[in-house]
Amino acid sequence: MIQSKALFLDRDGVINIDDGYVYKIDEFKFISGIFDFALKFRKAGYKIFVITNQSGIARGYYTVEDFRKVTSFMEKEFLKRGVTISKTYFCPCLPPEECLCRKPNPYMLLQARDEFQIDLENSIFVGDKSSDIEAGNRAGVKSFLFKNSSDFEFILDNSLL
Ligand SMILES: [Mg+2]
Repeated sequence: MIQSKALFLDRDGVINIDDGYVYKIDEFKFISGIFDFALKFRKAGYKIFVITNQSGIARGYYTVEDFRKVTSFMEKEFLKRGVTISKTYFCPCLPPEECLCRKPNPYMLLQARDEFQIDLENSIFVGDKSSDIEAGNRAGVKSFLFKNSSDFEFILDNSLL
């Protein structure tokens, strides 16, 4: 079986500025450098996935349909810059539900592995919370904690593209 490497991106705080429960297109502000960063991985043959907890859905702040609209906008903005997002995985649950999908569970990463034949050992996860790093570690993916745009360069330098 031919496997692909993947770059897994958390959404809020990595792709867009995390203002808390962002779901409107006009409030979705891309983080500086994210497009070039993702493009470098695409050019190196990585598939790109978004892995995001969206408890705002269970909280009733926005609907799955709202989330899908903003996701479609986000994916198109990447595509305009030459970056295909293979799939955006999301967990709509509330933290106390202890669902299977919510990070720090590795479930969404394992789903991507199964659906897209991903070689997790040679894949990378970038997230801004410890729950991201834990999910990545539990999936056996090399994980980087992201704080700001200057980290993109560090991650690229340490990813052996
Ligand atoms: Mg985040």
